[in-house]
Amino acid sequence: MSLYDKTAHELHELLTTKKISAAELTADVFARVDEMENKVHAYLTLTRAEAEATAKRVDEKISRGEKIFPLEGIPCAIKDNICTKGIRTTCASKILENFIPPYDATAYQKLLAQNAVIVGKANLDEFAMGSSTENSGFHTTHNPHDLERVPGGSSGGSSAAVAGGEAIYALGSDTGGSIRQPASFCGVVGFKPTYGRVSRYGLVAFASSLDQIGPLTRDVTDCALVLNAICGHDEMDSTSTAAPVPDFTKSLVADVKGLKIGLPKEYFVKGIDPEIEAAVHAVAKKFEELGAQIVEISLPHTEYAIATYYLIAPAEAATNLERYDGVSYGARVDGADVVEMMTNTRTEKFGAEVKRRIMIGNYALSAGYYDAYYLKALKVRTLIQKDFTDAFEKLDLILTPTTPNVAFKIGEMVSDPLQMYLQDICTVPVNLAGLPGISVPCGVTKNNLPLAFQLIGKALDEEILLRAAFTYESLR
Ligand code: GLN
Repeated sequence: MSLYDKTAHELHELLTTKKISAAELTADVFARVDEMENKVHAYLTLTRAEAEATAKRVDEKISRGEKIFPLEGIPCAIKDNICTKGIRTTCASKILENFIPPYDATAYQKLLAQNAVIVGKANLDEFAMGSSTENSGFHTTHNPHDLERVPGGSSGGSSAAVAGGEAIYALGSDTGGSIRQPASFCGVVGFKPTYGRVSRYGLVAFASSLDQIGPLTRDVTDCALVLNAICGHDEMDSTSTAAPVPDFTKSLVADVKGLKIGLPKEYFVKGIDPEIEAAVHAVAKKFEELGAQIVEISLPHTEYAIATYYLIAPAEAATNLERYDGVSYGARVDGADVVEMMTNTRTEKFGAEVKRRIMIGNYALSAGYYDAYYLKALKVRTLIQKDFTDAFEKLDLILTPTTPNVAFKIGEMVSDPLQMYLQDICTVPVNLAGLPGISVPCGVTKNNLPLAFQLIGKALDEEILLRAAFTYESLR
């Protein structure tokens, strides 16, 4: 029996009924890793010894007759911008090639508290800047559905690991779409929680006002289980919300009767893949048949979202990345004096995209341009937020495509950063507004590539997203 392609909740059942052991499960997933990794390249670091030690602990617990947590003994992948004590955390950057964090990120720590089995640290675009993993400082990850194509990004290692059977679920991070877009490209569920729901402590900062950790899973039930594990207030992150965390599994109810779902016309623009457009409309129709009400809405400032995001995110990134100076963290390349040492370090160790963001960000923040660019972007961000607030006065949910196109070929977009940025058109508004969003698989194209839709909810209303997603998934 192969175990690597099952969901966490199925495996939990097999573990508690002693049909399998955690050691067997871990061995099965690592056998799959051995089979797939030379084709998929989902990981930057594998942690077999840690995984086996945890599995052993879980089996001892089970044999003592103790109750186990829902994610206990289940193998997972952790995006390599999430700090793991004693385990290399590179952010897929040469500048952190040998960085071993002295502490755990809170979200990871919460998984450890459940005795989660960590398979390894998953690849990403350097510092989570990108949409394909081609910006990784080490290697590109390949999409398990078609090895010539990208898995999406920046959490492309996480999504490919889950889709390829190299982990049962994964943690990713989403600043402008980096969980939802790779989830859509790889045919898995990806959830970006409300800003503040999951602690950012120990998530290496890219753009602090946008970053959020979230799950990539095989189904909506697993998504609820991982959210249950990782959400909650954390005094180590001043932006984490004190709002109580519900039991998200209570939202796994197949019922959308009476829900009002908005379809924003700005998300169905020219250039969108007709197969995606048709798939999302078919999803809307299904919801309607199940008793939801579909209304066409307008989010008028959507067209400014990319420009706004690509000022705010680089501005915050330029500031956050100042710390990599060859002194406090990571790599150092020597020079004649301290200025030359810092220059050499940053010139040699940062990749092209990261440098591009630092330059855009510093430009937008510089004395002469601050008002014209950064401040203006903040004002437009407020307008984008207001679009959603207004829309949600009469709605429960918003339904959109996750991406304008399906997984593209490796190399197809690398020479055109602007085209790559346009990938994020449907996802960045959600981060700018701090709202929760989920990407849910909805079939395949005629070329067998995964299709997906996105649901957006009100702040802190993760539950309604799970409910609607679960309803859709129950139709299969
Ligand atoms: N693709 C977007 C970017 O490059 C989003 C990245 C992310 O969400 N981390 O910035």
